[in-house]
Amino acid sequence: MAKVVFENIYKRYGDNEVVKDLNLTVQDREFLVLVGPSGCGKSTALRMIAGLESVSSGKLYIGERDVTRVAAKNRDVAMVFQSYALYPHMKVFDNMAFALKLAKVPKAEIAERVEKTAEMLGITDLLYRTPRQMSGGQRQRVALGRAIVRNPAVFLMDEPLSNLDAKLRVHMRMELGKLHQTLKVTTFYVTHDQVEAMTMGDRIAVINHGVLQQVAPPMELYSQPANTFVATFIGSPAMNMFEGDLSGDLQLQFTAPGLDVPVPRRLEGAVKTRGSKKVILGIRPEHISLQPGEENPPGSFAAKVEVVEPRGNEIVCYLSLGDRNLVARLPANSEVSVGTNERFVIDDDHLHLFEKDSTLAIR
Ligand code: ADP
Ligand code: MG
Repeated sequence: MAKVVFENIYKRYGDNEVVKDLNLTVQDREFLVLVGPSGCGKSTALRMIAGLESVSSGKLYIGERDVTRVAAKNRDVAMVFQSYALYPHMKVFDNMAFALKLAKVPKAEIAERVEKTAEMLGITDLLYRTPRQMSGGQRQRVALGRAIVRNPAVFLMDEPLSNLDAKLRVHMRMELGKLHQTLKVTTFYVTHDQVEAMTMGDRIAVINHGVLQQVAPPMELYSQPANTFVATFIGSPAMNMFEGDLSGDLQLQFTAPGLDVPVPRRLEGAVKTRGSKKVILGIRPEHISLQPGEENPPGSFAAKVEVVEPRGNEIVCYLSLGDRNLVARLPANSEVSVGTNERFVIDDDHLHLFEKDSTLAIR
């Protein structure tokens, strides 16, 4: 078991910097989820830990050991890929035993470890099949088994569930969570899936264009995004964003076409310190509600209902405000009809402000 430390890590392919000055410490036993748009450098970061890609500059530690120049086979990490990457002609048992045989582990111990791992994963009755005789879910269990049986210091998982259908993914998500509770091995987990990101990790690291944007526990990332990228990347439907101006003195006011919102007291100090006038207001869909009656309290606005999506547990409502679009999540019993104009109100306890130029959160 081990912590993993990235210290000023860069990865370049020719002129293309795909990981830029990454500084990140993942604690022993921590489960870290890596998210970001396609091509942002997630797999590259994992492959550098595994030793499958060289580091262009910086230092990488596993435990106290500098592994920057250590060969992959001597790093004590195990990687699970989206594509499973099983040996197609080998039985499950041999797939799982392969690395142990290479490491010259005694035969009896190999059998014991493979059988124990197979039992943990519920694949004991598959041990003498080949991968092509199995479903995708079963193959993914074998791929996990092959990593677990090695008892590595670090697990690296690169979108391991994305080839499975939705139902199986939910199931495997829970199983992986339980497995981590049992094995407590430091884990890096790359995913595209919002729910996996929010539910599986101790912390989430958000990357964009090779630059780490924020790393924080899921709920903190959700409620206190550090910049507009994180704010709109985490959460579905995404946070609504409005460009506008700040004005006023005694009572600061955010103003955009069709929208006038008093700045909450809790943000006043930060706004004055930064001195920014051009800002972006962010509000999550669940923090917009219908304004009942005829009142127009501060922070309320009129919008046209464009699309209504009843989801059973809630209604997702797409609105237009002049030429801006926004999304609100309303209680399932709300009465809204397409084409009507309604008044809505922003819950200012959950309003975010970002500087327009730097995109950084003001708080
Ligand atoms: P992600 O896993 O976040 O989708 P990757 O880490 O696979 O992204 O890739 C990051 C960037 O590095 C991409 O722009 C990709 O094209 C580039 N890249 C990855 N591998 C290589 C390579 N072997 N040679 C050149 N460019 C590469
Ligand atoms: Mg990738």
